[in-house]
Amino acid sequence: MAINLTELTEHDFGDDCPICRAQDVVQSALLPAASAWESNSALPRFSVALHGAAELLGVMLQDGMERQDVDAALSALLDEIEQRISEDQVMGGPPKGNA
Ligand SMILES: [Zn+2]
Repeated sequence: MAINLTELTEHDFGDDCPICRAQDVVQSALLPAASAWESNSALPRFSVALHGAAELLGVMLQDGMERQDVDAALSALLDEIEQRISEDQVMGGPPKGNA
């Protein structure tokens, strides 16, 4: 079955948006874990984060997705994150519990 990347990247603006929930899981569980693995294993900062992201995306390639589609989805998500960062800076820091 084909994976719909649009479904995985576009918010549905509902109260129970699956994209927002996925971002919450990553921010509350995956980011601290990656950071802890880096410190506990004396690895350079962001080494687990970067390779973790790449390896996870690699599984999608292994699953038959087109590299250009994965690149495009990643680029769109990074655009969204950059947008969020600049909004947070305007507001004077990252808001707590933002979803
Ligand atoms: Zn959402």
